[in-house]
Amino acid sequence: MAEKITAYRFDRLDQTLSQLNSEDCVIIAGGTDVMVLHKSRRGVPPKIPKPIVFIDHLSELKQIYQDKKDLHIGACCTYSELLEHPLIPLALKNAIKTIAAPAIRNRGTLGGNICNASPAGDSLPLLYVYNARLLLHSINGNRIVAISDFIQGPRRVGRFPNEIVTEIILPSVLEEGAHVVFEKVGNRNADAIAKVSFAGFVRISKDRIDDIRFAFGAVGPTMVRSFDIEKKLIGKSIPLANSDIAPILADFDKIIRPIDDQRSTAVYRKTVALNLLRYFLSLKQTQTN
Ligand SMILES: Cc1cc2nc3c(=O)[nH]c(=O)nc-3n(C[C@H](O)[C@H](O)[C@H](O)COP(=O)(O)OP(=O)(O)OC[C@H]3O[C@@H](n4cnc5c(N)ncnc54)[C@H](O)[C@@H]3O)c2cc1C
Repeated sequence: MAEKITAYRFDRLDQTLSQLNSEDCVIIAGGTDVMVLHKSRRGVPPKIPKPIVFIDHLSELKQIYQDKKDLHIGACCTYSELLEHPLIPLALKNAIKTIAAPAIRNRGTLGGNICNASPAGDSLPLLYVYNARLLLHSINGNRIVAISDFIQGPRRVGRFPNEIVTEIILPSVLEEGAHVVFEKVGNRNADAIAKVSFAGFVRISKDRIDDIRFAFGAVGPTMVRSFDIEKKLIGKSIPLANSDIAPILADFDKIIRPIDDQRSTAVYRKTVALNLLRYFLSLKQTQTN
């Protein structure tokens, strides 16, 4: 017989935060990671060790709006909702289309992907290059933290037990002129966990690089990004010469340290990651936003 568990589903965010403040609970948004994490034998319901709190229905966590040039995305927006929304950048939609299959996209949320902090989370490379910030709420107030500070390791995030991530903020993402790409290499185009993923962001002004960013997924415990390496390309004129590209590849060769696992080998991951970077630096792709 299935064991009983306590589950809370409040109508409002403040009630939910108050419960989280008084009891250590497992937050469930879409549940697509939580249910897998706690699954036991086939046919037996997952064993979740603490009371659970559902948050996916809270309207405060489902808004998508523009504030100046920043895009605010409610943490509990599902992938299917994001795909339908006109403000969501094309590159993010392209990344979402590679995630799972429609049934999971109808449940899984962007906030869940972030808080699950998988090294292979498909939204993460793009959120890193967008310099995403997260808005967290607790009964004590709210705070904003950069995604790169929030994600600390595989399944490890800087969240207090009484906090909920309420919004993902993409600064200046609605500004014109950036070219952004996302690439995922897996066994299939969708419904496959990434062997390697890559996001690149570049803004060019008068044939010179104004801003450039890249992040790699599934090749380390968290996304691999380096401000120091990116800085070396600022001001370079395009097209980049081989003598500009080669040192950047050599720099990343040193800091990308993938592992062998059931999905791929370290050698394959590193080779593909550097090939994706080389292709991006050739700047043949020109996707806006
Ligand atoms: C069959 C299958 C295929 C999948 N394919 C992919 C794939 O291709 N790419 C990919 O990246 N992922 C994939 N996933 C993983 C999963 O669907 C995503 O990570 C999804 O975004 C998780 O969102 P969720 O709302 O279901 O999270 P949940 O399972 O509800 O939560 C995940 C974690 O985040 C916490 N959490 C959730 N929301 C919040 C919040 N707002 N504030 C604080 N904590 C929160 C939860 O407590 C939990 O620890 C797949 C999963 C399945 C089952």
